[in-house]
Amino acid sequence: MVLNELGARINGALQALSKESVIDSKAVDALLREICGALLESDVNVRLVHQLRENVKKQLNMDDLATSSNKRKVIQTSVYDELCRLVDPGVQPWVPRKGKQNVIMFVGLQGSGKTTSCTKLALYYKRKGMKVGLVCADTFRAGAFDQLKQNASRAHIPFYGSYSEADPVQIALEGVGKFRKDRFDLIIVDTSGRHKQETELFLEMEQIAAAVKPDNTVFVMDGTIGQAADAQARAFKESVDIGSIIITKMDGHAKGGGAISAVAATGSPIIFIGTGEHMHDLDRFSARPFISKMLGMGDLTGLVETVQDMQLDKNTDMMKNIAKGVFTLKDMRDQLQNILKMGPLGKIMGMMPGMSPEMMQGFDSDESSKKLRSYMCVFDSMTEKELASDGKIFEDEARLMRVARGSGVRLVEIQALLHQHRQFGQIVKKMGGPNGMLGKMNPQA
Ligand code: GDP
Repeated sequence: MVLNELGARINGALQALSKESVIDSKAVDALLREICGALLESDVNVRLVHQLRENVKKQLNMDDLATSSNKRKVIQTSVYDELCRLVDPGVQPWVPRKGKQNVIMFVGLQGSGKTTSCTKLALYYKRKGMKVGLVCADTFRAGAFDQLKQNASRAHIPFYGSYSEADPVQIALEGVGKFRKDRFDLIIVDTSGRHKQETELFLEMEQIAAAVKPDNTVFVMDGTIGQAADAQARAFKESVDIGSIIITKMDGHAKGGGAISAVAATGSPIIFIGTGEHMHDLDRFSARPFISKMLGMGDLTGLVETVQDMQLDKNTDMMKNIAKGVFTLKDMRDQLQNILKMGPLGKIMGMMPGMSPEMMQGFDSDESSKKLRSYMCVFDSMTEKELASDGKIFEDEARLMRVARGSGVRLVEIQALLHQHRQFGQIVKKMGGPNGMLGKMNPQA
Protein backbone atom coordinates (compact mmCIF):
# COMPACT_ATOMS: atom_id res chain seq x y z
CA MET A 1 0.00 0.00 0.00
CA VAL A 2 1.54 3.32 -0.98
CA LEU A 3 1.83 6.21 1.43
CA ASN A 4 -1.19 8.14 0.18
CA GLU A 5 -3.43 5.10 0.49
CA LEU A 6 -2.05 4.36 3.95
CA GLY A 7 -2.94 7.89 5.06
CA ALA A 8 -6.40 7.61 3.51
CA ARG A 9 -7.08 4.30 5.23
CA ILE A 10 -5.97 5.47 8.67
CA ASN A 11 -7.97 8.63 8.17
CA GLY A 12 -10.96 6.56 7.15
CA ALA A 13 -10.66 4.44 10.30
CA LEU A 14 -10.44 7.53 12.50
CA GLN A 15 -13.44 9.07 10.79
CA ALA A 16 -15.42 5.86 11.14
CA LEU A 17 -14.77 6.08 14.87
CA SER A 18 -16.26 9.57 14.90
CA LYS A 19 -19.47 8.12 13.52
CA GLU A 20 -19.77 5.33 16.11
CA SER A 21 -22.56 5.98 18.57
CA VAL A 22 -20.84 4.12 21.41
CA ILE A 23 -17.11 4.22 21.83
CA ASP A 24 -16.10 1.23 23.87
CA SER A 25 -13.14 -1.12 23.87
CA LYS A 26 -14.73 -3.01 20.95
CA ALA A 27 -14.76 0.14 18.82
CA VAL A 28 -11.15 0.90 19.76
CA ASP A 29 -10.13 -2.68 18.91
CA ALA A 30 -11.78 -2.37 15.50
CA LEU A 31 -10.00 0.93 14.89
CA LEU A 32 -6.63 -0.53 15.86
CA ARG A 33 -7.21 -3.63 13.75
CA GLU A 34 -7.86 -1.47 10.69
CA ILE A 35 -4.86 0.80 11.32
CA CYS A 36 -2.49 -2.10 12.02
CA GLY A 37 -3.71 -3.93 8.91
CA ALA A 38 -2.98 -0.85 6.81
CA LEU A 39 0.50 -0.48 8.36
CA LEU A 40 1.34 -4.13 7.68
CA GLU A 41 0.26 -3.76 4.08
CA SER A 42 2.64 -0.82 3.85
CA ASP A 43 5.51 -3.10 4.82
CA VAL A 44 5.93 -1.83 8.35
CA ASN A 45 7.66 -4.43 10.47
CA VAL A 46 5.26 -6.71 12.42
CA ARG A 47 7.07 -6.03 15.70
CA LEU A 48 6.61 -2.26 15.30
CA VAL A 49 2.95 -2.60 14.42
CA HIS A 50 2.39 -4.75 17.48
CA GLN A 51 4.18 -2.18 19.61
CA LEU A 52 1.97 0.61 18.26
CA ARG A 53 -1.17 -1.32 19.09
CA GLU A 54 0.04 -2.03 22.63
CA ASN A 55 1.13 1.55 23.24
CA VAL A 56 -2.18 3.02 22.13
CA LYS A 57 -4.07 0.52 24.28
CA LYS A 58 -1.87 1.30 27.27
CA GLN A 59 -2.45 5.01 26.87
CA LEU A 60 -6.19 4.62 26.61
CA ASN A 61 -7.58 3.54 29.89
CA MET A 62 -11.15 2.65 28.91
CA ASP A 63 -12.48 3.26 32.43
CA ASP A 64 -11.11 6.79 32.44
CA LEU A 65 -12.29 7.23 28.88
CA ALA A 66 -15.83 6.29 29.79
CA THR A 67 -16.13 9.52 31.72
CA SER A 68 -14.24 11.64 29.21
CA SER A 69 -16.44 13.99 27.25
CA ASN A 70 -14.01 14.03 24.40
CA LYS A 71 -13.27 10.36 23.82
CA ARG A 72 -12.80 10.61 20.09
CA LYS A 73 -10.25 13.37 20.37
CA VAL A 74 -8.29 11.46 23.05
CA ILE A 75 -8.19 8.33 20.88
CA GLN A 76 -7.26 10.22 17.74
CA THR A 77 -4.48 12.10 19.52
CA SER A 78 -3.10 8.88 20.91
CA VAL A 79 -3.05 7.22 17.46
CA TYR A 80 -1.48 10.31 15.93
CA ASP A 81 1.24 10.44 18.62
CA GLU A 82 2.09 6.78 18.14
CA LEU A 83 2.28 7.17 14.37
CA CYS A 84 4.69 10.06 14.88
CA ARG A 85 6.79 7.95 17.22
CA LEU A 86 7.26 5.39 14.46
CA VAL A 87 9.19 7.90 12.36
CA ASP A 88 10.75 9.90 15.17
CA PRO A 89 13.63 8.32 17.11
CA GLY A 90 13.59 11.27 19.49
CA VAL A 91 17.07 12.39 18.47
CA GLN A 92 17.78 15.95 17.44
CA PRO A 93 19.05 15.88 13.82
CA TRP A 94 22.57 17.10 13.16
CA VAL A 95 22.79 20.29 11.09
CA PRO A 96 25.93 21.80 9.56
CA ARG A 97 26.96 25.10 11.05
CA LYS A 98 28.15 27.96 8.91
CA GLY A 99 31.73 28.97 9.63
CA LYS A 100 32.69 25.44 10.68
CA GLN A 101 34.13 23.05 8.09
CA ASN A 102 31.53 20.32 8.13
CA VAL A 103 32.15 16.98 6.42
CA ILE A 104 29.28 14.66 5.54
CA MET A 105 29.78 11.15 4.21
CA PHE A 106 27.01 9.48 2.17
CA VAL A 107 26.56 5.71 2.33
CA GLY A 108 23.99 3.38 0.80
CA LEU A 109 23.49 0.64 -1.74
CA GLN A 110 23.90 1.24 -5.45
CA GLY A 111 20.73 2.61 -7.00
CA SER A 112 19.40 3.92 -3.70
CA GLY A 113 19.72 7.49 -4.97
CA LYS A 114 22.94 8.36 -3.16
CA THR A 115 24.65 10.42 -5.86
CA THR A 116 21.45 12.26 -6.75
CA SER A 117 20.77 13.04 -3.08
CA CYS A 118 24.35 14.30 -2.56
CA THR A 119 23.78 17.01 -5.14
CA LYS A 120 20.29 17.78 -3.87
CA LEU A 121 21.63 18.27 -0.34
CA ALA A 122 24.55 20.34 -1.62
CA LEU A 123 22.12 22.58 -3.49
CA TYR A 124 19.86 22.85 -0.45
CA TYR A 125 22.70 24.20 1.69
CA LYS A 126 24.08 26.32 -1.13
CA ARG A 127 20.70 28.05 -1.24
CA LYS A 128 21.09 28.67 2.48
CA GLY A 129 24.29 30.60 1.71
CA MET A 130 26.92 27.94 2.43
CA LYS A 131 30.03 27.26 0.37
CA VAL A 132 29.53 23.60 -0.55
CA GLY A 133 31.81 21.10 -2.33
CA LEU A 134 31.18 17.56 -3.56
CA VAL A 135 33.73 14.73 -3.53
CA CYS A 136 33.24 11.56 -5.58
CA ALA A 137 34.97 8.70 -3.73
CA ASP A 138 33.19 6.03 -5.73
CA THR A 139 35.76 4.23 -7.82
CA PHE A 140 33.77 1.00 -7.97
CA ARG A 141 31.07 2.02 -10.42
CA ALA A 142 32.28 3.08 -13.84
CA GLY A 143 30.68 6.41 -14.64
CA ALA A 144 30.06 7.42 -11.02
CA PHE A 145 32.41 10.39 -11.28
CA ASP A 146 30.86 11.51 -14.56
CA GLN A 147 27.39 11.39 -13.00
CA LEU A 148 28.42 13.45 -9.98
CA LYS A 149 30.34 15.85 -12.21
CA GLN A 150 27.30 16.35 -14.43
CA ASN A 151 24.90 16.88 -11.53
CA ALA A 152 27.32 19.20 -9.73
CA SER A 153 28.02 21.27 -12.86
CA ARG A 154 24.31 21.71 -13.51
CA ALA A 155 23.85 23.01 -9.97
CA HIS A 156 27.06 25.10 -10.17
CA ILE A 157 28.61 23.27 -7.23
CA PRO A 158 32.39 22.71 -7.10
CA PHE A 159 33.36 19.04 -7.21
CA TYR A 160 36.41 16.81 -6.84
CA GLY A 161 37.13 13.36 -8.28
CA SER A 162 39.60 11.44 -10.40
CA TYR A 163 39.52 9.27 -13.51
CA SER A 164 42.91 7.69 -12.80
CA GLU A 165 43.15 7.22 -9.03
CA ALA A 166 41.72 3.84 -8.03
CA ASP A 167 41.93 4.22 -4.27
CA PRO A 168 38.69 5.77 -2.93
CA VAL A 169 40.30 6.57 0.44
CA GLN A 170 43.01 8.58 -1.30
CA ILE A 171 40.44 10.51 -3.39
CA ALA A 172 38.29 11.23 -0.34
CA LEU A 173 41.29 12.52 1.58
CA GLU A 174 42.49 14.69 -1.31
CA GLY A 175 39.02 16.11 -2.02
CA VAL A 176 38.24 16.91 1.60
CA GLY A 177 41.75 18.36 2.01
CA LYS A 178 41.35 20.60 -1.02
CA PHE A 179 37.94 21.97 0.03
CA ARG A 180 39.12 22.42 3.61
CA LYS A 181 42.08 24.45 2.36
CA ASP A 182 39.69 26.60 0.32
CA ARG A 183 37.61 27.18 3.45
CA PHE A 184 34.41 25.46 2.31
CA ASP A 185 31.59 25.33 4.89
CA LEU A 186 30.26 21.95 3.85
CA ILE A 187 32.06 19.06 2.13
CA ILE A 188 29.92 16.14 0.98
CA VAL A 189 31.67 12.83 0.23
CA ASP A 190 29.83 10.34 -1.99
CA THR A 191 31.08 6.79 -1.40
CA SER A 192 30.68 3.67 -3.45
CA GLY A 193 27.56 1.53 -3.36
CA ARG A 194 27.23 -2.11 -4.37
CA HIS A 195 24.20 -4.09 -5.40
CA LYS A 196 24.42 -6.22 -2.32
CA GLN A 197 25.59 -5.68 1.21
CA GLU A 198 29.12 -7.04 0.69
CA THR A 199 32.11 -7.17 3.02
CA GLU A 200 34.20 -5.04 0.65
CA LEU A 201 31.60 -2.28 0.63
CA PHE A 202 31.54 -2.07 4.41
CA LEU A 203 35.32 -2.28 4.66
CA GLU A 204 35.70 0.58 2.19
CA MET A 205 33.15 2.71 4.03
CA GLU A 206 34.98 2.14 7.31
CA GLN A 207 38.32 3.10 5.75
CA ILE A 208 36.93 6.31 4.22
CA ALA A 209 35.24 7.22 7.50
CA ALA A 210 38.50 6.66 9.40
CA ALA A 211 40.37 8.85 6.91
CA VAL A 212 38.03 11.85 6.56
CA LYS A 213 36.40 11.66 10.02
CA PRO A 214 32.96 12.88 8.94
CA ASP A 215 30.90 15.04 11.28
CA ASN A 216 27.87 13.13 10.10
CA THR A 217 27.24 10.00 8.08
CA VAL A 218 24.09 9.99 6.02
CA PHE A 219 22.53 6.66 5.15
CA VAL A 220 20.55 6.82 1.91
CA MET A 221 17.77 4.31 1.49
CA ASP A 222 15.36 3.62 -1.35
CA GLY A 223 11.86 4.17 0.05
CA THR A 224 10.36 1.54 -2.21
CA ILE A 225 12.25 -1.52 -0.99
CA GLY A 226 9.69 -2.72 1.52
CA GLN A 227 10.46 -5.43 4.05
CA ALA A 228 14.16 -5.61 3.09
CA ALA A 229 14.62 -2.15 4.64
CA ASP A 230 15.04 -3.47 8.16
CA ALA A 231 17.93 -5.83 7.36
CA GLN A 232 19.60 -3.26 5.13
CA ALA A 233 19.49 -0.50 7.72
CA ARG A 234 20.81 -2.84 10.43
CA ALA A 235 23.73 -3.99 8.27
CA PHE A 236 24.83 -0.41 7.58
CA LYS A 237 24.37 0.58 11.20
CA GLU A 238 26.72 -2.21 12.32
CA SER A 239 29.47 -0.97 10.06
CA VAL A 240 29.33 2.82 10.26
CA ASP A 241 28.03 5.31 12.73
CA ILE A 242 24.86 6.40 10.92
CA GLY A 243 23.95 9.91 12.02
CA SER A 244 21.07 10.70 9.67
CA ILE A 245 18.87 9.08 7.08
CA ILE A 246 17.62 10.23 3.69
CA ILE A 247 14.78 8.20 2.22
CA THR A 248 14.54 8.54 -1.54
CA LYS A 249 11.80 7.92 -4.13
CA MET A 250 9.05 8.94 -1.75
CA ASP A 251 7.16 10.23 -4.77
CA GLY A 252 4.40 8.00 -5.93
CA HIS A 253 5.03 4.38 -5.16
CA ALA A 254 6.86 4.43 -1.84
CA LYS A 255 5.32 2.52 1.01
CA GLY A 256 5.72 3.90 4.50
CA GLY A 257 7.39 0.73 5.74
CA GLY A 258 10.91 1.43 4.46
CA ALA A 259 11.18 4.77 6.17
CA ILE A 260 9.73 3.52 9.42
CA SER A 261 11.98 0.45 9.52
CA ALA A 262 15.09 2.51 8.82
CA VAL A 263 14.37 4.72 11.80
CA ALA A 264 13.60 1.81 14.09
CA ALA A 265 16.69 -0.16 13.03
CA THR A 266 19.19 2.68 13.31
CA GLY A 267 17.70 4.97 15.94
CA SER A 268 18.74 7.85 13.68
CA PRO A 269 16.51 10.63 12.43
CA ILE A 270 15.32 10.97 8.85
CA ILE A 271 16.53 14.41 7.79
CA PHE A 272 15.22 14.64 4.23
CA ILE A 273 13.10 12.71 1.80
CA GLY A 274 13.70 12.59 -1.94
CA THR A 275 10.50 13.24 -3.85
CA GLY A 276 11.58 13.09 -7.49
CA GLU A 277 14.48 13.01 -9.91
CA HIS A 278 14.95 16.78 -10.16
CA MET A 279 17.53 18.71 -8.12
CA HIS A 280 14.91 20.51 -6.08
CA ASP A 281 12.97 17.38 -5.18
CA LEU A 282 14.27 17.16 -1.63
CA ASP A 283 12.02 17.91 1.33
CA ARG A 284 13.13 18.49 4.87
CA PHE A 285 11.65 15.83 7.08
CA SER A 286 10.11 16.10 10.46
CA ALA A 287 7.87 13.50 11.98
CA ARG A 288 4.77 15.51 12.89
CA PRO A 289 4.34 17.43 9.62
CA PHE A 290 5.02 14.18 7.71
CA ILE A 291 2.29 12.29 9.55
CA SER A 292 -0.07 15.29 9.33
CA LYS A 293 0.45 15.44 5.60
CA MET A 294 -0.01 11.69 5.23
CA LEU A 295 -3.33 11.96 7.05
CA GLY A 296 -4.39 14.92 4.90
CA MET A 297 -3.96 17.40 7.73
CA GLY A 298 -1.49 19.63 5.87
CA ASP A 299 2.12 20.63 6.46
CA LEU A 300 2.21 24.31 7.21
CA THR A 301 5.88 24.28 8.21
CA GLY A 302 6.85 22.91 4.79
CA LEU A 303 4.62 25.39 3.02
CA VAL A 304 6.11 28.38 4.84
CA GLU A 305 9.65 27.23 4.11
CA THR A 306 8.88 26.65 0.44
CA VAL A 307 7.37 30.08 0.08
CA GLN A 308 10.33 31.65 1.85
CA ASP A 309 12.73 29.84 -0.48
CA MET A 310 10.93 31.35 -3.46
CA GLN A 311 12.48 34.75 -2.69
CA LEU A 312 9.34 36.60 -3.63
CA ASP A 313 11.13 39.94 -3.45
CA LYS A 314 12.56 39.17 -6.88
CA ASN A 315 9.12 40.03 -8.12
CA THR A 316 9.27 43.70 -7.34
CA ASP A 317 9.36 44.66 -11.04
CA MET A 318 6.25 42.64 -11.62
CA MET A 319 4.49 44.18 -8.63
CA LYS A 320 5.34 47.64 -9.95
CA ASN A 321 3.99 46.68 -13.36
CA ILE A 322 0.78 45.27 -11.91
CA ALA A 323 0.26 48.45 -9.93
CA LYS A 324 0.47 50.31 -13.23
CA GLY A 325 -2.03 47.92 -14.82
CA VAL A 326 0.60 46.32 -17.04
CA PHE A 327 1.27 42.59 -17.30
CA THR A 328 3.99 41.64 -19.75
CA LEU A 329 4.91 38.19 -20.98
CA LYS A 330 8.07 38.48 -18.87
CA ASP A 331 5.90 39.04 -15.78
CA MET A 332 4.05 35.86 -16.60
CA ARG A 333 7.31 33.97 -17.10
CA ASP A 334 8.66 35.11 -13.71
CA GLN A 335 5.43 34.14 -12.05
CA LEU A 336 5.42 30.64 -13.57
CA GLN A 337 9.10 30.24 -12.72
CA ASN A 338 8.24 30.82 -9.06
CA ILE A 339 5.59 28.16 -9.19
CA LEU A 340 8.06 25.78 -10.80
CA LYS A 341 10.56 26.44 -8.02
CA MET A 342 7.98 25.31 -5.50
CA GLY A 343 7.81 21.92 -7.18
CA PRO A 344 4.85 20.07 -8.64
CA LEU A 345 1.52 21.70 -7.83
CA GLY A 346 0.39 18.56 -6.06
CA LYS A 347 3.27 18.90 -3.63
CA ILE A 348 2.24 22.41 -2.65
CA MET A 349 -1.39 21.43 -2.38
CA GLY A 350 -0.43 18.48 -0.21
CA MET A 351 1.03 20.86 2.34
CA MET A 352 -2.27 22.66 2.72
CA PRO A 353 -4.50 21.64 5.58
CA GLY A 354 -7.74 20.03 4.50
CA MET A 355 -6.37 18.46 1.34
CA SER A 356 -7.27 14.81 1.62
CA PRO A 357 -5.45 12.26 -0.55
CA GLU A 358 -8.62 11.87 -2.67
CA MET A 359 -8.74 15.60 -3.35
CA MET A 360 -5.12 15.48 -4.48
CA GLN A 361 -5.79 13.00 -7.25
CA GLY A 362 -4.82 14.46 -10.58
CA PHE A 363 -2.59 17.07 -9.00
CA ASP A 364 0.05 14.80 -7.55
CA SER A 365 1.56 13.94 -10.90
CA ASP A 366 4.46 15.60 -12.62
CA GLU A 367 2.16 16.60 -15.50
CA SER A 368 1.55 20.09 -14.21
CA SER A 369 5.28 20.75 -13.87
CA LYS A 370 5.92 19.33 -17.33
CA LYS A 371 3.47 21.79 -18.84
CA LEU A 372 5.07 24.67 -16.97
CA ARG A 373 8.50 23.56 -18.16
CA SER A 374 7.31 23.55 -21.77
CA TYR A 375 6.00 27.09 -21.21
CA MET A 376 9.49 28.05 -20.01
CA CYS A 377 10.92 26.79 -23.32
CA VAL A 378 8.41 29.06 -25.12
CA PHE A 379 9.55 32.10 -23.10
CA ASP A 380 13.21 31.16 -23.71
CA SER A 381 12.57 31.35 -27.44
CA MET A 382 11.22 34.89 -27.23
CA THR A 383 13.30 38.03 -27.73
CA GLU A 384 13.59 40.69 -25.00
CA LYS A 385 11.25 42.92 -27.04
CA GLU A 386 8.63 40.18 -27.21
CA LEU A 387 8.94 39.41 -23.49
CA ALA A 388 8.50 43.06 -22.57
CA SER A 389 5.33 43.25 -24.66
CA ASP A 390 1.69 42.69 -23.81
CA GLY A 391 1.55 39.78 -26.27
CA LYS A 392 -0.16 41.61 -29.19
CA ILE A 393 3.13 41.41 -31.03
CA PHE A 394 2.32 37.74 -31.69
CA GLU A 395 -0.55 38.64 -33.98
CA ASP A 396 2.30 38.46 -36.48
CA GLU A 397 2.11 34.79 -37.42
CA ALA A 398 5.73 34.60 -38.57
CA ARG A 399 6.85 35.43 -35.04
CA LEU A 400 4.59 32.80 -33.59
CA MET A 401 5.95 30.17 -35.98
CA ARG A 402 9.52 31.13 -35.08
CA VAL A 403 8.83 30.64 -31.35
CA ALA A 404 7.11 27.30 -32.00
CA ARG A 405 10.11 26.09 -34.01
CA GLY A 406 12.61 27.36 -31.44
CA SER A 407 10.84 25.95 -28.41
CA GLY A 408 9.65 22.69 -29.90
CA VAL A 409 6.21 23.39 -28.40
CA ARG A 410 3.07 22.95 -30.50
CA LEU A 411 1.48 26.08 -31.94
CA VAL A 412 -1.88 25.44 -30.26
CA GLU A 413 -0.22 25.26 -26.87
CA ILE A 414 1.58 28.55 -27.43
CA GLN A 415 -1.72 30.11 -28.47
CA ALA A 416 -3.29 28.77 -25.28
CA LEU A 417 -0.47 30.29 -23.25
CA LEU A 418 -0.92 33.66 -24.95
CA HIS A 419 -4.66 33.44 -24.39
CA GLN A 420 -4.13 32.87 -20.65
CA HIS A 421 -1.71 35.76 -20.57
CA ARG A 422 -4.24 38.03 -22.32
CA GLN A 423 -6.98 37.09 -19.87
CA PHE A 424 -4.83 37.78 -16.86
CA GLY A 425 -3.58 40.97 -18.47
CA GLN A 426 -7.16 42.23 -18.68
CA ILE A 427 -7.69 41.62 -14.97
CA VAL A 428 -4.43 43.38 -14.15
CA LYS A 429 -5.49 46.32 -16.32
CA LYS A 430 -8.69 46.66 -14.31
CA MET A 431 -6.84 46.33 -11.00
CA GLY A 432 -3.96 48.66 -11.74
CA GLY A 433 -3.59 52.18 -13.10
CA PRO A 434 -4.72 55.41 -11.38
CA ASN A 435 -8.40 54.44 -11.57
CA GLY A 436 -7.97 50.76 -10.72
CA MET A 437 -8.39 49.06 -7.37
CA LEU A 438 -4.68 49.15 -6.59
CA GLY A 439 -4.29 52.69 -7.86
CA LYS A 440 -7.02 53.93 -5.54
CA MET A 441 -5.47 52.12 -2.62
CA ASN A 442 -2.01 53.47 -3.32
CA PRO A 443 -2.08 56.59 -5.48
CA GLN A 444 1.75 56.90 -5.45
CA ALA A 445 2.19 53.54 -7.15
P1 GDP B 1 23.22 5.73 -6.46
O1 GDP B 1 23.65 4.53 -7.25
O2 GDP B 1 22.81 5.37 -5.08
O3 GDP B 1 24.20 6.84 -6.50
O4 GDP B 1 21.85 6.21 -7.12
P2 GDP B 1 21.56 7.40 -8.14
O5 GDP B 1 21.72 8.70 -7.46
O6 GDP B 1 22.33 7.18 -9.38
O7 GDP B 1 20.00 7.17 -8.37
C1 GDP B 1 19.48 5.99 -8.96
C2 GDP B 1 18.19 6.33 -9.72
O8 GDP B 1 17.20 6.78 -8.81
C3 GDP B 1 18.39 7.47 -10.70
O9 GDP B 1 17.66 7.17 -11.86
C4 GDP B 1 17.79 8.68 -9.99
O10 GDP B 1 17.29 9.64 -10.89
C5 GDP B 1 16.68 8.02 -9.20
N1 GDP B 1 16.32 8.78 -8.00
C6 GDP B 1 17.11 9.23 -7.00
N2 GDP B 1 16.38 9.86 -6.05
C7 GDP B 1 15.08 9.81 -6.45
C8 GDP B 1 13.83 10.28 -5.90
O11 GDP B 1 13.75 10.86 -4.82
N3 GDP B 1 12.71 10.02 -6.64
C9 GDP B 1 12.76 9.37 -7.84
N4 GDP B 1 11.62 9.17 -8.49
N5 GDP B 1 13.90 8.91 -8.37
C10 GDP B 1 15.05 9.12 -7.70
